[in-house]
Amino acid sequence: MPLPFSAEDLLQAIDGIAYAVDGDGIILGFSRGPFLPAGEGGSDTPWNSEAVVGTSLFAQLRGAEVIETYRTLHRAVWSRGHPAVGFEYRCDSPETERHMRMSLSLIRAGSTPVAVLYQSITITETARVPLPLFAADLLTARAPAGLDELVVKLCSYCQRVAWPDYDAVTDPEWIEAAEYYWRGGVTDVVISHAVCAPCYQRVIGSLSASSP
Ligand SMILES: [Zn+2]
Repeated sequence: MPLPFSAEDLLQAIDGIAYAVDGDGIILGFSRGPFLPAGEGGSDTPWNSEAVVGTSLFAQLRGAEVIETYRTLHRAVWSRGHPAVGFEYRCDSPETERHMRMSLSLIRAGSTPVAVLYQSITITETARVPLPLFAADLLTARAPAGLDELVVKLCSYCQRVAWPDYDAVTDPEWIEAAEYYWRGGVTDVVISHAVCAPCYQRVIGSLSASSP
């Protein structure tokens, strides 16, 4: 006996934000909201729910490193080497420290892969002293042409920032945004969305560690 509801009904019932995406990354359906807010490496293009279906999920992300990690996770799940992967990440706003969990699960029709289900849920939200570095306008600002403004890298997974040290050729020091301010970091910067080495290892490294 078939289930008395559609796939769309099921998608709408899922907790948090849910996206069903095909093997090429094209959005087939979603429950609500942008996939990631701007502060989390989400796109700064105006979010229009009608225009989202049929477009690439990866076009909603910012930062080449961030997009590449999501593509890698997507391929790992779609190829069925990993029927599901999950990781915790941060999605702060100036007044809120927010811990989230993202999961990617393979949906099959019989034995044929048909979609990857992305589900994002909030684990904890804690109010804090405002950190202006996480203001949406700053996180989506583009560097003004011709201006040599300070670029600060922000990890899209843990929201640590790379301490801007122009003497460090490799391996920047990734610190909490509060620490950034304690050290005298300024807000008048351009944010570049990136992935820190520990998060890369935690999120992508786990794929090879658990390969079947
Ligand atoms: Zn990180």
